[in-house]
Amino acid sequence: MKISVIGTGYVGLVSGTCFAETGNQVICVDIDENKVNRLRNGEVPIYEPQLEVLFERNVRQERLKFTTSLEEAISQSDIIFLALPTPPGEDGSADLSYVLGVAKELGKIITDYKVIVDKSTVPVGTAAKVTEAISKYAKVDFDVVSNPEFLREGFAVEDFLKPDRVVIGTSSERAQKVMEELYKPFVRQGNPIFFMDEKSAELTKYAANSFLATKISFMNEIANICELLDADVDKVRIGIGSDSRIGKRFLFPGIGYGGSCFPKDVQALIKSSNKVGYDFKILNAVEEVNATQKTIIIPKIKNYFAGDLKDKKIALWGLSFKPDTDDIREAPAKYIIDQLLETGANVAAFDPEAMANIKEIYGDKISFGNNAYDVLENADALLIATEWSVFRNPDFNKISTLLKDNVIFDGRNLYDLDKMTSLGFRYYSIGRAEV
Ligand code: NAD
Repeated sequence: MKISVIGTGYVGLVSGTCFAETGNQVICVDIDENKVNRLRNGEVPIYEPQLEVLFERNVRQERLKFTTSLEEAISQSDIIFLALPTPPGEDGSADLSYVLGVAKELGKIITDYKVIVDKSTVPVGTAAKVTEAISKYAKVDFDVVSNPEFLREGFAVEDFLKPDRVVIGTSSERAQKVMEELYKPFVRQGNPIFFMDEKSAELTKYAANSFLATKISFMNEIANICELLDADVDKVRIGIGSDSRIGKRFLFPGIGYGGSCFPKDVQALIKSSNKVGYDFKILNAVEEVNATQKTIIIPKIKNYFAGDLKDKKIALWGLSFKPDTDDIREAPAKYIIDQLLETGANVAAFDPEAMANIKEIYGDKISFGNNAYDVLENADALLIATEWSVFRNPDFNKISTLLKDNVIFDGRNLYDLDKMTSLGFRYYSIGRAEV
């Protein structure tokens, strides 16, 4: 099949590469010339496990191409995916200007039947708006399909190649057949493709992300109450997770969710609900809890240093919003850095993949290490903001030698309390005793 993917970011590049991997001819479009040039030169501009190998193979075998020209891509494609940004607008609702802007252009360009697929996360009713925008100019038949994407950054390739499910919203039999054919190679193990109406497909994505965000905020509140009641959130987590109605996953407390999806999608669903006169009370609370949780570790540090962080050097491990990505959008680490700088502390940070992105924002306001241990030298404390695997089993003797004071503030509960006590560390984590 011949496919265009418009928008070559985390979703577009992964989707395009994986569609090419199953034998399709794919051309990815982006307005960012620099990005397209890098892609054309064989450089993958984001960090995503497994992506480089697939990218290299499909580029080499000429199934995966890149352009800045929408016309060039559309003239060679039967299926057009929109993987464009849908950031929060001023009032928090999803900004559809990228999606509708491209839809308008498509209306002017298409000269024969196309299946136009919305892969961006968009509010209910967007498929109809995209159809309207294209119809204004198009003189040929086309179908607009809603196909929300559920991949997780850090597992994007794996998730795309073997999705738990594929959701396709369409009222067109013709488009349904095309989509079924396209996704067949991805569901060979029997994972379902759910066909539904466009609106339900659009809402499914928001419901999924909002539910997961709710689960995180709920566990963060349980952790906070554990601290006040002298209970241990790890024990509570195991206790409830073994109930199959609850499930073991997504029960880990921490310093809040971030990323480009949960914060904006929770906000957008609240706004969509408001627009139809519904007050989504739970989601308002989810947002509020998360905003507090992102900075919950700062008072613990301040308290430890008797309220004065001026000129203290804090070593910060982890900058990305979660492990295995270089994405720092809404990362809790950024909120922590801002607060630390406000108090007059110095921050020395290390992250396996996200330092370049953080440097673009903070420049030399913070310093960076070449490895996890560099930043510890003469630091007053270590703070952990992201649970990269490489931080799970560090050389504690080395940490102890390099740190001025043997104290660790862990926003991701990486270490056992008993072990930290026996190693002689003061150790502060989330929802567990201070040792
Ligand atoms: P992104 O910011 O990484 O990528 C978007 C790309 O679109 C950028 O490269 C940008 O330059 C390009 N672009 C902007 N305007 C354009 C135009 N007019 N023509 C061509 N290209 C244009 O965004 P993303 O993280 O890939 O997210 C895309 C959509 O997918 C969003 O709606 C998001 O909510 C959704 N989504 C994201 C994830 C995720 O984990 N990142 C997962 C599922 C769904």
